[in-house]
Amino acid sequence: MSPASWFSNRKAAKWFALTVIAAAFYLSQSKICIRQLTDVTPGWLVFAWLFCFVWLFLLIRFKSFSGPHRISSLIGTIVGLNLLAQSTGGEQSPLIFAVFLLMGIAAWEGDAKYGFWVAILFSLFETVYLRTENVPQGLFLYLRWAAFLTTAFFLQKVVKTRKEKERLDHHLESLKNEAVQLASDAEPSSFNIPKDKLLKEEGRLSARLGTVMELEDSLTRQLTLFQKSLPVHTAVFFLLTTVEEKTVLRLRAFSSESDSVASDVTILPGETLIGLAAKEGKKVLLNQIPPESAKALPYYLKPNPVASFACYPVYLKNNSADPIPGEDSELVGVLVLDHLKPDFFQDPQINLIDQFGRLLADTIHSARILHFSRTKTRNLHALYEVSHSFSTLLEINRVLETVLKTAKEISPCDSAYVALAEGDGKTFNARAWLKSPKTAEKPERLEEELAAWVLENKKPIRYTRGQKDKSLAAFSRKEGMLGSVQSFILVPLLVGENVLGVIRLNSQHPDTYQEYDQDVLTTLANQTAMALENALMVQQIRDMATKDGLTGVFNHRYFQEKLEEEITKADRYNKDLSLALLDVDHFKKFNDNFGHQEGDRVLRTVSEIIQTTIRSKIDTVARYGGEEFAIILPEADGNVGKELAERIRKNIESHLFEKDGKSLYRVNVSIGISSYPFDSRDQKVLIQLADRALYEAKAGGRNCVRRFKTGTG
Ligand code: GH3
Ligand code: MG
Ligand code: MG
Repeated sequence: MSPASWFSNRKAAKWFALTVIAAAFYLSQSKICIRQLTDVTPGWLVFAWLFCFVWLFLLIRFKSFSGPHRISSLIGTIVGLNLLAQSTGGEQSPLIFAVFLLMGIAAWEGDAKYGFWVAILFSLFETVYLRTENVPQGLFLYLRWAAFLTTAFFLQKVVKTRKEKERLDHHLESLKNEAVQLASDAEPSSFNIPKDKLLKEEGRLSARLGTVMELEDSLTRQLTLFQKSLPVHTAVFFLLTTVEEKTVLRLRAFSSESDSVASDVTILPGETLIGLAAKEGKKVLLNQIPPESAKALPYYLKPNPVASFACYPVYLKNNSADPIPGEDSELVGVLVLDHLKPDFFQDPQINLIDQFGRLLADTIHSARILHFSRTKTRNLHALYEVSHSFSTLLEINRVLETVLKTAKEISPCDSAYVALAEGDGKTFNARAWLKSPKTAEKPERLEEELAAWVLENKKPIRYTRGQKDKSLAAFSRKEGMLGSVQSFILVPLLVGENVLGVIRLNSQHPDTYQEYDQDVLTTLANQTAMALENALMVQQIRDMATKDGLTGVFNHRYFQEKLEEEITKADRYNKDLSLALLDVDHFKKFNDNFGHQEGDRVLRTVSEIIQTTIRSKIDTVARYGGEEFAIILPEADGNVGKELAERIRKNIESHLFEKDGKSLYRVNVSIGISSYPFDSRDQKVLIQLADRALYEAKAGGRNCVRRFKTGTG
């Protein structure tokens, strides 16, 4: 007989304990075993030591304190260890510390309270010994045993807490699995959305978890009612679910007279009677089960004297009232009932169980529907919120940020962006960007292949790495561009036939986006497109109010406001500011020679040259009047201002205007400069002085820059 079977054999364990006790009793009576440490031979000490550790090793190896004969093993071991301790010096024995090890093993492997029992039994033995031998340092030894007891007590608490935590972790994990399962199983037919449109990843788990816990609660309530009213000894429900990609039956709810029902058991279909019932889709009824079979019921921690047993596969019917297993119905779990009396399950009971099974199926069905409708409601709410906020959002960037935030709420993503059609309308430049901490950098624009596809088809794209989609062949060959992205969804922002841009969501997981996501995101995109169109219009109106129609630079009114603002700023921060007024030389003549249209073109080109020459984001250029431009140059004193103006003049002078592809003419400008606070602190006066300097430039022969000097004019 192997040590393993030796320890798990009830009779052997009992004999082991009895033999050890008898040996201890005999040896203690004969006083052979009780020796002072000084009397112990080194050979015996080494032997006892080795023996003790082999013993403890075997206890760990064969998990003796969690087996069915834990009490026998425990008592036998305590007596034996005490025997070894007494024969190697009693209270001075170096083997005493093995007691701590024993306490640890007992607590860890078995129920935590066993550690405590070890300490109590040892203390008891020692107390009896101290009483009979009248040892001088008795008090000290009692204290030592008190310390043992305290340690054992805390050990028990620690182990208990740890085990409870493990159990809860395990439970939560299994609930999470079920939640994922629930989402993929949810019965969406009532919403006209097929199964594959449901969402599978972790992000939406918390919402599902709520439903799963509610499902567990209501299953337990129903089982309790049924178990007490039938009544049966135990009622258990195993839910068909997936654990690590394996389909299993998992104990999800129970109600029992017994307190030894295991809280989490998984059974493979086909395994044990329960798994077999599930696999075959057949009810199992046993009204006379032998005690040996009763012991094998997997949902009990220790044997219960069950005599009748019923096991019912529970089906969710799809259409017909009475489903034929496997045809138009889906197995959702197995209901198991047992009773201590034989012959319990007769026709009336069987009838009730049938009906109860249907009730359980309905409960699961409702949980699925509930979950789906919650997801839907949440998304509708997000869409409502966004449409509401769009009505007040008139700024493009705010619209884009809101869209991304909402899109992330609706569908999970690791990064997302909105890209808008710009320039020729064929490139989509990323304008707003959202990412989770670890993911990639903001992309510049949408990949050419995808942009071309969207422009042509005006439809959303769902893509997962390795997807063989003919229409996206140009893109699927370049999957490398995806970086760590495993799947993405892309929805165009359409106004009629016009593609304003796209919303794109990226995920680090494959197959993240289902048709359902596409539907909701399309709704979001439609609203976004409208909001965007509004914002673009507002932007246009704003431009019309502040910009010059011919040249695109700011108009006179804006110039006056901006100059006032810049003067205030210069005043507050004690900075300089220059103002330049520019006038095209002999423009009347130019118009006469080349026509007004050509003159307009010159004005546009002049304004472009000014814009590219000035410091972008610092200086402001405006059309002051007919062929006159005003340039505000903040933080530039008269000298710097003059230098900048000179550069503008030169750039215009050197520009060769063309007409019909032929070089034709050049244009010159004169510029007058005044500066704040040197010339004046007053806005009106500053403009007048610049105008006077301009007049100076004209008088000085044109095509030059003049700075206002007091006393001129
Ligand atoms: P100078 O400034 O060198 O003294 O001579 P000028 O011929 O440019 O004289 P002035 O500034 O008085 O003439 C302004 C001319 O600019 C009058 C008008 O024909 C022309 N002009 C004003 N606004 C526009 C415009 O929007 N388009 C065109 N083509 N010409 C304009
Ligand atoms: Mg003029
Ligand atoms: Mg002029």
